[in-house]
Amino acid sequence: MNIKLSNGRVIPIEMHKVRIVQKTTLPPIGERLRAIEEGGYNTFLLRSRDIFIDMLTDSGTNAMSDNQLASMMVSDDAYAGGESYYKLLEAVKDVMGFDYCVPVHQGRAAEHLLGKIFVKPGDVIPMNYHFTTTKAHLEMAGGKVLEIYRDDALDTVSSNPFKGNLDIEKFKQVIEKYGPEHISFIRMEATTNLIGGQPFSMANLKEVKEVASRHDIPVVIDCSLVSENAYFIKRREKEYENASVEAIVREMMAQADMIYLSGRKSTCVRGGLIATNNPGYFETLKAWLPVYEGFITYGGMSSKEIEAMAVGLREMVDYDAASSSADLIEYFVTKMVERGIPAVTPPGGLAGHVDAIKFLPHIPQSEYPAGAMAAAIYLASGVRSMERGSISMDRDSEGNDVPADVELARMAVPRRVYTMSHIEYVVDRLDWLHQNRNLVKGLKFYHEPPVLRFFTGKLNALENWGRTLADAFKADFGSEC
Ligand SMILES: *Cc1c(COP(=O)(O)O)cnc(C)c1O
Repeated sequence: MNIKLSNGRVIPIEMHKVRIVQKTTLPPIGERLRAIEEGGYNTFLLRSRDIFIDMLTDSGTNAMSDNQLASMMVSDDAYAGGESYYKLLEAVKDVMGFDYCVPVHQGRAAEHLLGKIFVKPGDVIPMNYHFTTTKAHLEMAGGKVLEIYRDDALDTVSSNPFKGNLDIEKFKQVIEKYGPEHISFIRMEATTNLIGGQPFSMANLKEVKEVASRHDIPVVIDCSLVSENAYFIKRREKEYENASVEAIVREMMAQADMIYLSGRKSTCVRGGLIATNNPGYFETLKAWLPVYEGFITYGGMSSKEIEAMAVGLREMVDYDAASSSADLIEYFVTKMVERGIPAVTPPGGLAGHVDAIKFLPHIPQSEYPAGAMAAAIYLASGVRSMERGSISMDRDSEGNDVPADVELARMAVPRRVYTMSHIEYVVDRLDWLHQNRNLVKGLKFYHEPPVLRFFTGKLNALENWGRTLADAFKADFGSEC
């Protein structure tokens, strides 16, 4: 929640008490250099013990509530018919309004099933923006992902409150060009993860629904970060300023024929689900579920996580929970902009992002500016961010690099984990890095996996720039921090 101080300053205030803590340490610069070199300049390959503030992702790293933890103790481990599943069903019905729910072990498992069942080879799947695992699964099923965002969605500096909107005109053209029978479904990602956690508006979603229903095209919403999207609708869409986050989520869900989610984000657990009111979809999903995930009442999740997800679903629509990360990110982004750091605006859900092309204009896309940026942030601060640029794109079928639309270093803000002083520190070190940006050079692969290479690929720092940067850091701060 944002709260106004008596001097007029607005700060994000924690609407929770911290009652369990995890110790963290700041490895000194020499250690950080060793760690990033060992990890092939890939922040995915760092170990937790080498990290001070972990902003790699908000996936599975959020703080759970006392009620979530308590619920795990009463979970029912029955292989079939477990009571935990029925609590999840009730929560899905109450919060989202769906009668049927299929649990899966995480978000990509839902995407795997949707691809397998609903995508025919040669189909197209239009969407506001892709997510890495979404694209991988839908294309493995023989489909083609079409991104039909509005022209300004990729502008990293913007005042458009809804950069996650789908372009309705382009959607109509896609229907005309491919024919509705070749469109598996239209997918709306609630806060577009890869372009900065930018939301879509309710008005846009309703238009999508209207056009889709005219052609019998199912609307699928990726609800992984639905609570943040709903919160932004409340904050940014006039008509909804007095609506509760809960009511907004319900209204969003009413536009969908099917939804799925990674429970690792908004619901603060580790798992996933697919939900629908369509009995036909449910029966088909249920038939495939035991092949890939597990029996319908657990679907590859532990019963403890199912219990906690039922609680997390109810809690995520609470204003304080839905705003917790979004408001801290707003503060983070505002501070970066104040210091002249090229942050992505407006602030989105999930993370603060830095535009690496603007931050490191001397590094060409073929030398992975976002990857270099993430490694440099780690060196300068012990903060782990994630490359979201060309390394996150796999090569095309001819083996060529595919330059990403945007090159971002993403600094995720897991829900209810970090505080304002952590954010102040991050901004300070980013500022230092910005002043020393010319020391940072590009990267080159020496180990490159063929699929989702960003996870385990290893790279070399051109001209050994990591050492130069570490030396500059030591000169300014000493070798102890
Ligand atoms: C995280 C995420 C996924 C994939 O979920 P996993 O639980 O990581 O498999 C899919 N879509 C979006 C929008 C996500 O944020």
